[in-house]
Amino acid sequence: MRDENVLVQVKNLKKYFPITRGMIFSKHVGDTKAVDGVSFDIYRGETLGLVGESGCGKTTTGRTLLQLYEPTSGSVFYDGQDLASMSNRELRRMRRKLQIIFQDPYASLNPRLTVGAIVGEPLEIHHIASGKALRERVSELLYLVGLRPDFINRYPHEFSGGQRQRIGIARALALDPEFIVCDEPISALDVSIQAQVVNLLEELQEKLGLTYLFIAHDLSMVQHISDRVAVMYLGKIVELAGRNALYKEPQHPYTQALLSAVPIPDPVIEEQRQRIVLEGDVPSPSNPPSGCNFHPRCRHSMAICAEKEPELVEVVPGHYCACHLVSQAQS
Ligand code: SF4
Repeated sequence: MRDENVLVQVKNLKKYFPITRGMIFSKHVGDTKAVDGVSFDIYRGETLGLVGESGCGKTTTGRTLLQLYEPTSGSVFYDGQDLASMSNRELRRMRRKLQIIFQDPYASLNPRLTVGAIVGEPLEIHHIASGKALRERVSELLYLVGLRPDFINRYPHEFSGGQRQRIGIARALALDPEFIVCDEPISALDVSIQAQVVNLLEELQEKLGLTYLFIAHDLSMVQHISDRVAVMYLGKIVELAGRNALYKEPQHPYTQALLSAVPIPDPVIEEQRQRIVLEGDVPSPSNPPSGCNFHPRCRHSMAICAEKEPELVEVVPGHYCACHLVSQAQS
């Protein structure tokens, strides 16, 4: 039976980008496995953080979930409805409920359009408002994100990075969405501005009952806002747990290494912090290592790790981990 609390259900989602060779007769010679079989639920009203180094597939996961990229296989259910089986018309209507906030507030806003035109565009496309009603709705949205409604006739270059990200958020809110993929919304901002944007997103979540998938490359960025956190490595989820469990008792060696890089505000504890340095780079997703794809960089790697892929299993209620070492300790 379907759990009514689950708003988004992702099942074994894969997104492979084909690699081709040859100018005239291009030949399929392999795939970049950007997302390689991820499964997770997102509950109504929660924020699920999705974290990993750049190139791990987290942005592709967000976009494939929204059907901005066509999945290679797997499914995404939104409120119990399979997005892949929808007609273009049904999907367009559904898209009003699912929005995205982009990472780069400089590149994601059209420099030739006024703020009013940028924020109002989704309302015009969906024939929801025009004329005076459109201007009023845009003013309301600007106010909602902490911008002055009289900014409506200004252009993006007149604003700071934080203000531009607020414009992007206002645009994402225009169609009254229920679910928003926040794709690294604070990574391009000054540290001093990051907390303001996170606070705004939290306020909006409470006020409007929103559900977020919050993507970041650093565990410190999602700690404050997330209810649960999923850690990705090379196209796969390696650990998923409630925020406190993940930060206090990380199980997967990769999560432990990522967390060891997060500075601790207490100077005494910070002094004793032991950094786990990951050797080497993230391998290519077009040629991932055998077995556990983290094994070439893992300090606990065993013979089985290069042979058999570990499954994501529930090690304690609500805490999932894909690691042979952790599974062996359980049995
Ligand atoms: Fe390390 Fe093996 Fe666990 Fe992979 S399965 S994280 S290589 S111990």
